[in-house]
Amino acid sequence: MDENRKHSHNERMQRKKEVVDAAIERAQEERGIVILITGNGKGKTTSAFGTLYRALGHGQQAGVVQFIKGTHATGEVAFLQRNPGACAVRYHAMATGFTWNTQNWDADKRAADEAWAQAVAMLADPALSLVVLDELTYMLKYNYLDTEQVLAAVRARPPKQTVIITGRAAKPELVDLADTVSEIADRKHAFKAGVKAQAGIDF
Ligand code: ATP
Ligand code: MG
Repeated sequence: MDENRKHSHNERMQRKKEVVDAAIERAQEERGIVILITGNGKGKTTSAFGTLYRALGHGQQAGVVQFIKGTHATGEVAFLQRNPGACAVRYHAMATGFTWNTQNWDADKRAADEAWAQAVAMLADPALSLVVLDELTYMLKYNYLDTEQVLAAVRARPPKQTVIITGRAAKPELVDLADTVSEIADRKHAFKAGVKAQAGIDF
């Protein structure tokens, strides 16, 4: 790179640094937030578990409720269950597999209510810095849970507690509630090109 271009690059970086420093200076509030990870692309549940891992690294306690039980035992849950450090995580999975498999609204509704009762307890516990409500969006979309009740419990949580909600097709009410919303777009997925789902990558 010639000297002129290097010089203008350095100037640009200096301006960028000023903007970033000013933004850091402005953000002074300390509180728990609601993070919504939605969209059709891959990376929602793995993002939530990445944040869980991050919280545990700082010695925090966390809770996880999974509102869909798949047919595969996932690696992230197997790891929690056999890792002694994960005693800082309270975990609950929905009892039945919700379901394009079971097609039994009543059984699914019971399982959703049970899972939600666990979530309510976690959302009332100030010892938990982080609560992950994985695939919660579907419970609202298919009316297994009442949207207003869910919003109220999340709003009433302890002020320092952060909640992560994942799942496709998030209702607008969830988007409004959340402080941080990431919509993961489905640009490509290997499965659609015929690659089989893999342990350690997809589950
Ligand atoms: P992950 O658990 O990998 O972060 P996710 O939570 O974003 O994925 P889900 O909709 O919960 O996505 O689906 C979970 C499973 O479906 C994973 O095995 C994932 O690889 C796969 N999957 C996710 N998105 C897609 C997609 N767009 N096309 C095909 N399969 C997908
Ligand atoms: Mg998921």
